[in-house]
Amino acid sequence: MHAETDPLIHKEKQTIELKEVLDIGAVQSLMDDFYSLTNIGVAITDLHGEVLIATGWQDVCTKFHRINCATKKNCLESDIYLSENVEKGEFKEYKCKNNMWDISTPIFVCDQHVGNLFLGQFFYIDEEINVKVFEEQAVLYGFDNDSYLDALRRVPRWSRQKVKTVMDLYSKFAQIISKLLTSNLSLEKSLEDNKKTIKELELSNKDLEQFAYVASHDLKEPLRMVSSYTQLLEKKYKNNLDDEADKYISFVTSGVQRMHCLITELLKYSRINKEKRLAIVDCNKIICEVMLDLAVAIEEKHAEIFYSSLPVIKANPTQVKQLFQNLIENAIKFNNHEKPEISISSRYENGQWIFEVKDNGIGISPEYYSKIFSLFQRLHANNEYSGSGVGLAVSKKIVERSGGNIWVESEPGVGSTFYFTFPGLEQQNS
Ligand code: ADP
Repeated sequence: MHAETDPLIHKEKQTIELKEVLDIGAVQSLMDDFYSLTNIGVAITDLHGEVLIATGWQDVCTKFHRINCATKKNCLESDIYLSENVEKGEFKEYKCKNNMWDISTPIFVCDQHVGNLFLGQFFYIDEEINVKVFEEQAVLYGFDNDSYLDALRRVPRWSRQKVKTVMDLYSKFAQIISKLLTSNLSLEKSLEDNKKTIKELELSNKDLEQFAYVASHDLKEPLRMVSSYTQLLEKKYKNNLDDEADKYISFVTSGVQRMHCLITELLKYSRINKEKRLAIVDCNKIICEVMLDLAVAIEEKHAEIFYSSLPVIKANPTQVKQLFQNLIENAIKFNNHEKPEISISSRYENGQWIFEVKDNGIGISPEYYSKIFSLFQRLHANNEYSGSGVGLAVSKKIVERSGGNIWVESEPGVGSTFYFTFPGLEQQNS
């Protein structure tokens, strides 16, 4: 991608500082090892000339050029300006302002030039050192002539082939560093973006919940009024108006009832996150309570419910009851069998309880497996099977809030099994 068109590059352009993104300790230690094996040093500097990594520097630099103010300025200016404009993967050879060889290769992060890797302080085997130049430098900068020339003599002499091989290796190394730093930065940026998106999502979910809560709560009052006046209208004028009017009144009444039911369900949904109380819940007891509450439906449909030794979990008791009730109610409702059979079981696996609510009902086609857990998603008309389409959305929210999952497996005409997980007590206590 071109530098100008990549928003990441554009945004980071002025901001990347090599010392902030480079693991200086790790690279220094690697280069120390390389130096002890080969006797070939290295330096990495940023674009301000700050030396971040240095190994194998010669006395001529550390004891003379980098100590004296004027020669140090020469070093800095050489590091910054003479090493400019080298392409990625290339290297440039130049005599520094103190007349020593330097070779540099650039380090880029996100297409931004952030520093240079240097090979320095050597002479070529085939070159003749112009001692006079250094003697003049000793005078100019006030170095002790003998020890300065002595330090100069200790500077290693390498063949041109050796220098080229080392620089090939160093420019590859600089490219590896560039690639690593660029991907680290992109990774960091996408993690940051992810965090931001999650935060925004959480906020918008909260807003939505709050809206659903306020809307459903506040809608109840005007709805109650509509409901009372419709009932009044029905009482007073039923059979006094024509058939058409009676039909309209009954439409309004049933519409109001349905709206009331939807609002109650929506309120239930929006309240889930408000329920914070956790307790030790015996699921066997919960099933008994649910069966009592559903006694009429169970009897009407001649349903049979089987369950055995369900576990004790830590959860919100009202919500666990709500969850089982939704699933069992559906298992009875969406069932045309003479004898609906529902079995509830559980098993412990990898620190969590996996519950199963299995029925022999009408079943669900695989393409609807995830859709049915969304708010207001129903697969049937209301005159076929009544309902609001909120039950499974509520169940999903209850389960996920406790760190679990809910899903369904089914075969149309044979039956469905709803699975959900809850963390085991051991897991919750750890
Ligand atoms: P409701 O029961 O009010 O329609 P739910 O959210 O509980 O809403 O269920 C959503 C839809 O999933 C139902 O309308 C139905 O089509 C399907 N469904 C749920 N449970 C079962 C089941 N046990 N067997 C077959 N279909 C089911």
